[in-house]
Amino acid sequence: MLTIDLTNRCNMMCDPCFMDANQVGFVHELTWEEIKTMLDNAITVKPKRQMSVQFSGGEPTLSPYFLDAVAYSRKVGFNSVQAASNGIEFAKSKELCRAAAEAGLRYVYLQFDGIGNAANSHRKVGNLFDVKLQASIICMKPASKSCRYHHRERHQQRAGGQNY
Ligand code: SF4
Repeated sequence: MLTIDLTNRCNMMCDPCFMDANQVGFVHELTWEEIKTMLDNAITVKPKRQMSVQFSGGEPTLSPYFLDAVAYSRKVGFNSVQAASNGIEFAKSKELCRAAAEAGLRYVYLQFDGIGNAANSHRKVGNLFDVKLQASIICMKPASKSCRYHHRERHQQRAGGQNY
């Protein structure tokens, strides 16, 4: 799977964060030309296998090109277009979830540290578990039925199995 970190910005400030999002003193965010070039180059790699791309970050939905990147990925031939997200923007906006689904987003990966707000409270958002449930409910609505919900230890995966 191709992973593209669209931005190191995030609307959370976890400690630790595998990307040091919001903590390095500068913003690194891909331009539209950079995103397009990466997708154009990646789609030419042979042999072609499962053509999957996951947009990550930081929080990928904060990139001004998030929806364009999703739509362009589908246009050039990626079948499985995914976002690894903390869920906040999806929970806040049905319109975002619908627009993402219409652009071609197929999966949203939400990271959980456990069940309930207490198990997630070390990330400094008191109702983070509720927020992620809300995001998952919105993403599973019929209006956005193509935006399937998957929860997975994405951060754990990216950190090589280390739970944090
Ligand atoms: S939500 Fe993820 S990217 Fe954002 S600060 Fe937390 S660990 Fe980092």
